[in-house]
Amino acid sequence: MEGGFWELEGKRAHDFRVANVMKSSACVWVPGPIIIGAGPSGLAVAACLKQRGVPSLVLERADCIGSLWKNRTYDRLRLHLPKKYCELPSYRFPKTCPTYPTKQQFVAYLDAYAEHFDIRPAFNRTVVSTEFNHNFRLWQVRTVGIEYVEVEYMSRWVVVATGENAVDHFPQLEGLEDFGGPIIHSSSYKSGEQFTLKRVLVVGCGNSGMEVSLDLCNYNALPSLAVRDSVHVLPQKMLGKSTFGLSMLLLRWFPTWLVDRFLLLMTYFILGDTTKYGLHRPRQGPLELKNRLGKTPVLDVGTLSNIKSGRIKVFRGVKRIKGNAVEFVDGKVENFDAIVLATGYKSNVASWLKETDMSFEEGDAPSKPFMNGWKGENGLYAAGFTRHGLLGASNDALRIAEDIHHSWMLDETKHYVAFPASRG
Ligand SMILES: Cc1cc2nc3c(=O)[nH]c(=O)nc-3n(C[C@H](O)[C@H](O)[C@H](O)COP(=O)(O)OP(=O)(O)OC[C@H]3O[C@@H](n4cnc5c(N)ncnc54)[C@H](O)[C@@H]3O)c2cc1C
Repeated sequence: MEGGFWELEGKRAHDFRVANVMKSSACVWVPGPIIIGAGPSGLAVAACLKQRGVPSLVLERADCIGSLWKNRTYDRLRLHLPKKYCELPSYRFPKTCPTYPTKQQFVAYLDAYAEHFDIRPAFNRTVVSTEFNHNFRLWQVRTVGIEYVEVEYMSRWVVVATGENAVDHFPQLEGLEDFGGPIIHSSSYKSGEQFTLKRVLVVGCGNSGMEVSLDLCNYNALPSLAVRDSVHVLPQKMLGKSTFGLSMLLLRWFPTWLVDRFLLLMTYFILGDTTKYGLHRPRQGPLELKNRLGKTPVLDVGTLSNIKSGRIKVFRGVKRIKGNAVEFVDGKVENFDAIVLATGYKSNVASWLKETDMSFEEGDAPSKPFMNGWKGENGLYAAGFTRHGLLGASNDALRIAEDIHHSWMLDETKHYVAFPASRG
């Protein structure tokens, strides 16, 4: 049913239209759930619903599926976790894919997933407002498309799947706007090609910041990292297994604090003392920190050896910027030709989802968890907001599909005859 439009029949539809003075150029009744976002989470929910016989409509602001991966990531990106932890429900990666698929392979997987489940999102539909109409017990989802055409969709259920990375996070840095060279967010960074022999400051030392620094090294740029917060850098592999996989295995038998101790001990033997290089560890262990604050540890893919060799310099947090000079909080000053802000992302949900018991935060601190569950009230759901990556999104999708299937079976509106809508 994705991409199909339907109009509610009968008195209920008439009352609804009368009550809603036409604000949009078209109004569309969707008998199944509306899923907002055609990234991995949205696709997973649509597929799980389809498997249970529940039709859905996926609305997507971009002109393709998986737009984060296609348009807003760097070229050298690979999945940080082994593919078996990144598979969406009921569809395997091809056997030919390596353990850590490249960005291009993951994008191909998403395309194949959508094709396999025949998911056809409605593209170029940016959701600008979503609210629950208590009188009619329906969700009203307003979208703006190409040439500002507005369409309003209505349904009993809404699944928010717009991701934790919908908007680039820009930090407040004194003098940033007057910096004398280019400033880009890591979402616009493709490769270090344009930075050869340039002094580049990468602000932020999460997985993206560390990997961008490594990429800059590979293109003979002169990268430096500005590290404001403490960070857990772990090796990608331990004892021949992925660190993530080994952690999952150990957590089956041991408490988090004990697994954390083990991980840190192994890390010390493999990577040495990272504090010596300006990368201080948080007091809480990596898994505890992930569980409590959603902060993802950095899995080292080669950056650390460049830090140890001095090819990547490490500085403290940025205090202020004047022209090309950057002053750090410890008083050091250094000149740079360009800045890459690897300062994370934010959700955009709070800007368009009205009146809800689900808390989607949009503050300046991207380390805060964005929401507190996968299920809200009145048929509202959220997939992919628990800071557990693709694995978390898949788990959300399975739960959501099961829950919606249950209420869909009992819902009278699914029996309304559907036909293409046209409206003035
Ligand atoms: C560089 C990078 C590397 C990563 N690597 C991994 C990894 O290896 N493993 C892992 O598990 N996770 C990884 N992640 C986390 C990543 O966010 C998830 O893997 C995954 O993309 C989340 O899927 P999603 O569908 O929830 O969100 P997204 O992929 O962000 O998809 C959300 C979709 O919603 C659309 N949208 C947003 N707002 C609106 C709106 N108002 N109206 C309509 N549509 C809208 C967007 O255009 C987008 O297509 C990585 C993230 C980044 C940035």
